Amino acid sequence: MAKFKCPGCRALIPACTSVCNECSIPIEIFDAHPSKALNSLFQGRRYQGQNPADAAIVFVGRDANYAKDIDKDSYFFNILAEYINNGVNFWHNSSDAKYWKYNTNQDNIKNVHHPFLLPAYATLFPKKEGYEYHRKFSCMNLDKSYAQYISFVEIIDVPTKGHSRNICKDRFNKLLRNSECHIKSLVRSLINGPPKAIFVPDSAIKVLRQLNCTWCDEDKIKMAKFIASICREGRRSSDDIPIICEIDNGVLSICV
Ligand SMILES: [Zn+2]
Repeated sequence: MAKFKCPGCRALIPACTSVCNECSIPIEIFDAHPSKALNSLFQGRRYQGQNPADAAIVFVGRDANYAKDIDKDSYFFNILAEYINNGVNFWHNSSDAKYWKYNTNQDNIKNVHHPFLLPAYATLFPKKEGYEYHRKFSCMNLDKSYAQYISFVEIIDVPTKGHSRNICKDRFNKLLRNSECHIKSLVRSLINGPPKAIFVPDSAIKVLRQLNCTWCDEDKIKMAKFIASICREGRRSSDDIPIICEIDNGVLSICV
């Protein structure tokens, strides 16, 4: 049975556990996110940043994970909605003072690619779910001129909540099955669009491999090619960051 480290006592405990049997702290089980407001933002747009079909660099993640109470504060949730609706614009405008509530040092103010990097997020959501992924991304020090080239997409087509390893398999597989239509169109946009660099972490590769495709033969072949090309390149997003990307006159070069 899959196990993970309890965020409280660090003991190894079985996945799909709602209370740690060592230190008794509650641990949120991974599942679809309950917020109607967040889900309706996702229904309108199933990627962040640039449209994956038009992007030069695509970061594929397993799922978009949010604090369970992400919609509790309207100031922050409105910023998140702006980002989901137009991540390229958000990156360009994010040094505006209106985004920097709770900031204690004027020197911190800069353009950031994601609202989780704003001081309001750490202040309102001290567990900072999802922060680490975007902090690592920001280590590449890409400035706002890269915004138009970069897309973030996820395999699971709804936002999620809970500890990323605290997964009940049957619940996860249901989310995955429900995402097949989305995955199919995502793969098509990645393969048929202009050439692009695609970064996929191990967690997402595992999920793609376990898909029991029910799509037409042509799509199965494309899916297999997509996975094979990722594995051959050996490029993984979160583990391999920092990556040096250079875009010069629309020509992309990457050193991993
Ligand atoms: Zn514990």
